[in-house]
This record gives sequence, C-alpha cells and structure tokens, in this order.
Amino acid sequence: MWAEHLEKEYVECRRFGHQWQIEGRMTVIGAKAVDLRCGRCTAEKLALTFKAGSRENWYWYPEGYMKPDGEPRATTDELTDIVIKRTTKVNQTEKVKRRAANRRR
Ligand SMILES: [Zn+2]
Repeated sequence: MWAEHLEKEYVECRRFGHQWQIEGRMTVIGAKAVDLRCGRCTAEKLALTFKAGSRENWYWYPEGYMKPDGEPRATTDELTDIVIKRTTKVNQTEKVKRRAANRRR
C-alpha cells in the first residue's frame, strides 16, 4: 500500500487534516486572498474569496505527498492503522487520571 511509505507527517495530515496557520494576506485581482501553511507537512493553501461571493482554495503540496497515479485512495481505516503503527503508546493510566482530575462538566 503506497501510503505505508509516506512521511509520518504526510500520513498524519491525511488522517487528521492539516494544521493551517496564517502566513499573511495577498493581493489577487478580484479576490481577498489569505495565504496559509500547514505547520506539520508544509503544504500551502491560498484561500480566495471573490467579490461575487464565491470561494476557492488553491493548494500546493510538498514533494512525495501526492498519491501516485493509478493507486487507490487510502481509506481512513488504513491511514489510522499506519498512524498507530508509527506512534508511541502513552501511559494510559496516568493520562486517564489527569483527565479525570481536570474534567469540565
Ligand atoms: Zn499538513
């Protein structure tokens, strides 16, 4: 499965979504444009809002992020398995205790 060979950050963004951070704004004719960058995988996005009210997002992905042509899409379940395989197990008892102590009702 091609996704098993992806960089760790790329799998995480594919599974959980990008961590978009605003880099700035740009002048694009006929549109308000906000420039964003993913803090995890470095993908870039230009969020455009046109004067007529329509919206468009343009994306640029880092080398190796894209699915190779002809390969099937990775399912959420497959991506989850890859993330779990590569992720260190946390001390569950400690975490549950800490969360119980800080729980908001
Ligand atoms: Zn990302």
